[in-house]
Amino acid sequence: MTSPTTRLMNTVAILEKLVSFDTTSRNPNVPLIEWVESWLDDHDVTYTRHRGPEDGKWNLHAILGPVEKGGLAFSGHVDCVPVEGQDWSRDPFVLTELDGKLYARGAADMKGFVAAMLAAIPTLQTLPLRKPVHLFFTFDEEITCNGARYLIEDVKSRDLMPDYCVIGEPSLLSPIIAHKGRFTVRSM
Ligand SMILES: [Zn+2]
Repeated sequence: MTSPTTRLMNTVAILEKLVSFDTTSRNPNVPLIEWVESWLDDHDVTYTRHRGPEDGKWNLHAILGPVEKGGLAFSGHVDCVPVEGQDWSRDPFVLTELDGKLYARGAADMKGFVAAMLAAIPTLQTLPLRKPVHLFFTFDEEITCNGARYLIEDVKSRDLMPDYCVIGEPSLLSPIIAHKGRFTVRSM
């Protein structure tokens, strides 16, 4: 089992790589997805890639433990918001450490959680998993949330829905057990 220190070092190294991809929602996410797939390949993790309605945008679903429905999912979106018009004092696509904090576009929202998911894989693989641990990587959270919609349809169609899901959105490290909901009216 990797030590907490090694895991933290791995998480930061992975985050450095993840933020280097400009996955602003308008862009294809395929370069990042391919990098994650190579990480999963290196660790012999089972996964499937599923395309969205636009070229170059993909969801990824990895499974540790038994390949079946149920179990626990960890989910993170890999797109981020634009940097144009913002007063960045450093390159937003290079991870920078300052006063013990890590800065980059998407470092908190939410490639940090995605990095933690990937860094946890070696530890998860040492556990006798009787139920699956699903890892979801989605596109287009910041603009339409369509990535998650496509993912859910796909996972349902393969009869692999988890029982529970942890979404790693930043919440000042306070667990939030449900979304407050949202209602949108579109005028035609
Ligand atoms: Zn987010």
